[in-house]
Amino acid sequence: MGEADGRRRLPPVDAILSENELTEPILRHGRLAVRRAVRRVLQDLRENLGAASSQPLPDLPFIVSRSLEILERDRRSLRPAINATGILLHTGLGRAPIAEEAIAAVAEVAGVYSNLELDLDSGVRGRRTSGISGLLRELTGAAAATAVNNNAGATVLALRALASGREVIVSRGQLVEIGGSFRLPEIFEVSGARLREVGTTNKTRLSDYRAAIGPETAAILRVHPSNYRIVGFTEQPELVDLVELAHAHGLWAIDDIGSGAIKPGCPPGLEGEPTAAEAIAAGADLVLFSGDKLLGGPQSGIMVGGREAIGRIEVDPLMRALRLDKLTLAALEATLRLALDPAHARHRIPLWSMIATPASELESRARALASRLSAEWGLLASAVASEAYIGGGSAPILPIESAAIAIAPPFPIAGGESEFAAALRTGDPPVVARVRKGSVLLDLRTIPPDQEPRLLDAIRTLCQDRNSPADGRDRPGSI
Ligand SMILES: *Cc1c(COP(=O)(O)O)cnc(C)c1O
Repeated sequence: MGEADGRRRLPPVDAILSENELTEPILRHGRLAVRRAVRRVLQDLRENLGAASSQPLPDLPFIVSRSLEILERDRRSLRPAINATGILLHTGLGRAPIAEEAIAAVAEVAGVYSNLELDLDSGVRGRRTSGISGLLRELTGAAAATAVNNNAGATVLALRALASGREVIVSRGQLVEIGGSFRLPEIFEVSGARLREVGTTNKTRLSDYRAAIGPETAAILRVHPSNYRIVGFTEQPELVDLVELAHAHGLWAIDDIGSGAIKPGCPPGLEGEPTAAEAIAAGADLVLFSGDKLLGGPQSGIMVGGREAIGRIEVDPLMRALRLDKLTLAALEATLRLALDPAHARHRIPLWSMIATPASELESRARALASRLSAEWGLLASAVASEAYIGGGSAPILPIESAAIAIAPPFPIAGGESEFAAALRTGDPPVVARVRKGSVLLDLRTIPPDQEPRLLDAIRTLCQDRNSPADGRDRPGSI
């Protein structure tokens, strides 16, 4: 019996396509898409059958259901996932989930026309950022505000608009790399401003800044070293002192606070992060931060500051290249509106809720889930203490007390807990977890209660698949 034999016994594509269960999917997704999925399944099977000719042949219902799975998976490459890592702003998982209010605002303008750049009162062309600008001014106390596609873009734009061809002084302790691709020296190169490094990695004094000021200097830039801390014997001047020095020499004082807490208490329960309102109060001409970090909104680069600085930025051609689209604007405006009332927003902005949830609440959820997994599925699961992190280049050192479910691999498996984690990650929905000492850890700080049913489903499906006897129904390609 050669491998060609097994291949020949597979049903032809057209026979599969005429199965009843595929009629509706063909109507919905088109014949081409379904045919592609069926072909993929047959291809997989051919490869598998080639390896072991004695393997029983999968039946038609199996091929159909496997095709539907592939069809569903292929429908979107960008899919919802469950973040069980305990890292709240996980860049790989899309940073901040946005509030229902923000989602509704997007849905409302997405499929219709809107007054994006039309002033309805006068009927003349308006500014697309006018709505968010008012909210940002109210929230931070700044005289002017605008926003672009992300904070990396905002930094390039700010350096270009305020310091192109001139020098900007930055402490050597703040030459950050964030998220692998935001490296300050490279950002400078793109912007056309010249980086003037001062001080040392651990210590930079006000006098270092003062000594570097010359006829070429345009600005002093302070950068929040979001994803690391220099601890021990360190020194950095206060922002107010940098601002005073800058203004005494006619320079711009720019503060890239990165993670972007709006003001103290926004988000609640997070102390020690720099805030936009405080930087404005200290006199900074321009404050930059990401919209999808601690604000808990959509990806964006927010700029608040004085009228002159923001005015220069808004007329720079790069502003046009980095402008926000209407969907982001809708989500950002809704998020900022929520932030006006922090006590309310704490329950509405997902990131804020996740930060503010008491660890005891997570603990009791972990216990309840672990005992369900043990009782219903015989899994070796228990509730354990865990540490969550803000991530995304924010509050790196400070762990947040959390609780997790620890699950031992439910089946004999070559790679142990790592393979189990991989199986969860490639499941439906994908569950991204940490591994620790023989177990997979599902941290509940990043799993809102309404995602629990989907989490349980994902684990159940995995156990079911693994526990079914090898009757040829094992998914090809699954572990
Ligand atoms: C995150 C961060 C950036 C980059 O912001 P993006 O919105 O990811 O482009 C820049 N500077 C600092 C200090 C940051 O923390």
